[in-house]
Amino acid sequence: MVRLILAGVAIVLAALAGLVGYRASTFTATPPPAAVQIPELSSYAIDGEAAADRLAEAIRFRTVTIVDDDGEPAEFERFHAWMQARYPAFHAAAKRELIGRSLLYEWRGSDPGLPPLLLLAHQDVVPAPEDTRAAWNLDPFAGIVRDGAVWGRGAIDDKGSLVGLLEAAEYLAASGASPKRTILFAFGHDEEFGGEGATAIAATLAQQQRRAWFVLDEGMAAIDTHPLTGKPASLIGIAEKGFATLRVRAVAQPGHSSMPPPETAVSSLALAVTRIHSMPIERGLEGGPALPMMRALSPDLPLLNRVAISNEWLFSPLLRQRMANPVAQALLGTTVAPTMIDGGVRPNVLPAEAIAMINFRIHQRDTAESLMARARTAVSGLDGITLEWAAPPNEASPISSTTSSSYALIAALSRASLPDAPVAPGLVVGGTDARHYSEVAENVYRFQPLLLSTEDMAGIHGVNEHISVANFERMIRFYIGLMQAGAM
Ligand SMILES: [Zn+2]
Repeated sequence: MVRLILAGVAIVLAALAGLVGYRASTFTATPPPAAVQIPELSSYAIDGEAAADRLAEAIRFRTVTIVDDDGEPAEFERFHAWMQARYPAFHAAAKRELIGRSLLYEWRGSDPGLPPLLLLAHQDVVPAPEDTRAAWNLDPFAGIVRDGAVWGRGAIDDKGSLVGLLEAAEYLAASGASPKRTILFAFGHDEEFGGEGATAIAATLAQQQRRAWFVLDEGMAAIDTHPLTGKPASLIGIAEKGFATLRVRAVAQPGHSSMPPPETAVSSLALAVTRIHSMPIERGLEGGPALPMMRALSPDLPLLNRVAISNEWLFSPLLRQRMANPVAQALLGTTVAPTMIDGGVRPNVLPAEAIAMINFRIHQRDTAESLMARARTAVSGLDGITLEWAAPPNEASPISSTTSSSYALIAALSRASLPDAPVAPGLVVGGTDARHYSEVAENVYRFQPLLLSTEDMAGIHGVNEHISVANFERMIRFYIGLMQAGAM
């Protein structure tokens, strides 16, 4: 009997092994979308050094996001005037509308039947706090070109995109080109703090009943070392996670700490936070950009991983084990991060209440409502606990297509710009202005055509932010190609 069972197991194993081998050998990446015609990007007569000098000028405007009126509104006005002075051909060709401090440009196409191309960038930058200044090699707002790079706050995020788009549009407008398809440029003024500007622009477009062909914003780029393949990869953000912060409040009888009840507000709060932190969260490859990303990168994966992905139905526990790190976990599911805790004023006084904040980054398979329900279940049975959202939650964005003509265009331009970086879809785990535009276009992509190293990425919101002149020039060529192939 035992021998029979073993034989049966062996047959099953052999069959599985055969199937695994077969599937791995026949498995290939998702076929690239239909080929699209794109111009020869190297043919453009671009002066990268001169463009870099203009980006450096843009960095000198301290357009730090204005929060609670502690900012410099006049800097935005001066920045707007600079744009008009520096990019005269574009400003002559396009209509400019000021929406608050945000800008909406319309470069009208000759064929009103074509839905417009909508290109986003933001004018504001995060501050460079005083206590980090010593770590900067130079003044973050000096705007300096040195050692083949433009240095300063906003070099990548996101004056690089904004000035890159203006350089591309100016190049085309100055050469007498004009679009068939309307090109819209939307430059928000407070992306780093909620994006009310983007919300207002999107509302303006919706009011005019305008639907864009697609939206392109920042959010992802090409990286020189993808964590799974160890090689370059060009990641096009097809979705971004949602954002919600749960306020957990614990109330209890106040009094002297010498004769405490079984639970105090502090101990109840600690229990509640621990339970919510460890509540079950589904993680997996399905239901988001993770699986299409891994499929697209599969030719570059080491063999074992390749076998695992091609047999995902069989090996997903193995795959999950390989992805047990914070970067991968953020890709595979909603994350739960207790970030603030507050309660009590004296060591010997029982507080009447204690409060904690737990930040969720919501994956596409979850909603704020489903997370709230699970959090309530997690704390059920604990006395004196109330849960509420600290602010209205932002749900996870829809997932844009990887088989659309617009994805094919971005992918083709990326391959032409960065031939060594295979294109794959990705998930933006932070937030961008793009999330406000899902009513304006079916497909919203997040991609800067830059090849970034770990060191380059550390500068974004960090110290010594910089963009290489080569990367900046690559971005300008990409945007010219995009406008030419997509709208002319
Ligand atoms: Zn940004």
